[in-house]
Amino acid sequence: MAQKRPARLRGFRAHLTLWLGGLSLAVMLAVGYYLGKMATVDLTLAQGEALYGRAQAAALQLSNSLKERELEIGLLSQAPHVARGHWGDPDIQASLDRRRITRPEYAWVAVTDARGTVRQATQDVLLGEDMSSRTWFQAGRHGVFVGDVHEAPELAQLLPYEVADGEVMRFIDVAAPIRRNGTLVGVAVALVHWDWVWQTTQRAFAVDGASPAAELWLVDRDGSVLYPSHSAGLQVLPGWPRTVRHQVARWDDGRRYLTSVAAVPPTHGTELGWRVLVRQPVEYALADTWALRNQLIFMGLLGALLITWVAYRTASRMAVPLERLTAVARQIEAGNHAPVFPPPANVLEIDRLSQSLRSMTQTLLAHEHELEQKIRQRTEALEQANAELERRATTDPLTGVHNRRRLQDKLDELMRIRQRTGREFALLIADVDHFKAINDGFGHDAGDRVLQAFARVLQAQTRATDFVARYGGEEFVVVLPETPDLATAAQVAEKIRQAVAASTFPMVQTVTLSMGVTVSGALDESPDTILKRADRALYRAKAAGRNRVEAVPSTDAAPS
Ligand code: GH3
Ligand code: MG
Ligand code: MG
Repeated sequence: MAQKRPARLRGFRAHLTLWLGGLSLAVMLAVGYYLGKMATVDLTLAQGEALYGRAQAAALQLSNSLKERELEIGLLSQAPHVARGHWGDPDIQASLDRRRITRPEYAWVAVTDARGTVRQATQDVLLGEDMSSRTWFQAGRHGVFVGDVHEAPELAQLLPYEVADGEVMRFIDVAAPIRRNGTLVGVAVALVHWDWVWQTTQRAFAVDGASPAAELWLVDRDGSVLYPSHSAGLQVLPGWPRTVRHQVARWDDGRRYLTSVAAVPPTHGTELGWRVLVRQPVEYALADTWALRNQLIFMGLLGALLITWVAYRTASRMAVPLERLTAVARQIEAGNHAPVFPPPANVLEIDRLSQSLRSMTQTLLAHEHELEQKIRQRTEALEQANAELERRATTDPLTGVHNRRRLQDKLDELMRIRQRTGREFALLIADVDHFKAINDGFGHDAGDRVLQAFARVLQAQTRATDFVARYGGEEFVVVLPETPDLATAAQVAEKIRQAVAASTFPMVQTVTLSMGVTVSGALDESPDTILKRADRALYRAKAAGRNRVEAVPSTDAAPS
């Protein structure tokens, strides 16, 4: 199930930062990679060419060195005193010795006769020996010859020469025919210390230290190593294409080397087919390339970081006013009717949003205010209507005093108070005397007006805490709360009777009433018993001649 990301990561700021940061990182890395690749290819090529140049220089140096020996022996063979073929001639001996002494690379310089017998030699080495089977003799009879490097243990003993540690004394043969008038009379030969030749080459190679850890190897035409001796005979360059000047190759030691091969130019006499090989570990050869690549990566990362930072700043500039607006919206939501809006933002759209929110809030608040007022008005009207309804439900429409229903409620309430507190109340029933006669004599409307006036007198004669209700027809009930004394109640009734008798009524002028009075008592279980008791008192008053008050105590039991 996909988990919802935290709010911070879903924010505008995080989105913009992550997208722009990621995008710039990708672009920077892509551009960096592309540039790096191009630069690497170019630099590798340049390094390879440089290495090739050095290999070529070494090959040329070697070739020149061999050509010089070739030329020297060639000149020796053509010298008139040699070409005469007078073996034993001290001039010849002097020529041989001079070469050996002046050029330390010469191990042995000699002349043979046409059959291959050594006739004169430096230090008389191999004098009289038959050399006819040697390659240099065979080849030297026909022209200038430079032979492959070889060991010569028998000569090594005879020819003291310092060689490097671990090296075996090896030689190159250089031979040239001695001719007199076109006829072969012998062969001039020199054994050149290979070590010397190679060291000269190597010194030339090592002159500038531009290629650290670079090694110089010499390989013969078959691809086996001639030098260094510790790898002599090793087959390298299998399948090295002739046209390839340099390439990065993995060698047997597992390391990668920038390797370059240059052919040694042929001498006059012989095409040796040698090749000079230069190899340099890639970590040296391509150090600049790698440094450049690292710089590109570093700059790319730096650039991406910078863009991410700028994106973050920009997003913040936009997000902050938005966050403030959100806070304002929350305040409004929470009921704050006067939220403080943020200062104008520097982003146009956000500013407009802020203004819209502000005017929307004002409109909404005004609307809400209007609505509240309306509700208040309606509520008031409703309350008034309810009150009116309540009034109508509890008031007698003709006289304006309480109606019978309200009386019932009032009596129930007083009964409850009585039960709780023991406070007794008095109840008076008033009935207009001979009212029928009024109706009959003056009409029903006149009767109504008499009833209205009668109610007014009742209310005027009672206190605000007393309770006046129309019981029905021309009968009224007056309740006196907290009036336990029957005599007091009777006094009130008498006062009312007198007031009515003294009042002037419309049309009829005078009206009298009869009243029954009682008080509530411990035995009363319902308002009904009290009403009945008062009614009995009223009946007595009527029976006793009307216009009078009759009181009945609470202990007066109802006739069964
Ligand atoms: P008594 O002295 O015995 O009380 O004699 P009475 O004529 O008052 O007798 P009764 O109580 O029987 O008559 C009441 C009359 O009141 C009968 C009825 O027509 C009349 N009446 C009842 N309600 C109204 C009313 O609202 N308006 C008018 N005008 N008359 C009413
Ligand atoms: Mg009556
Ligand atoms: Mg009556």
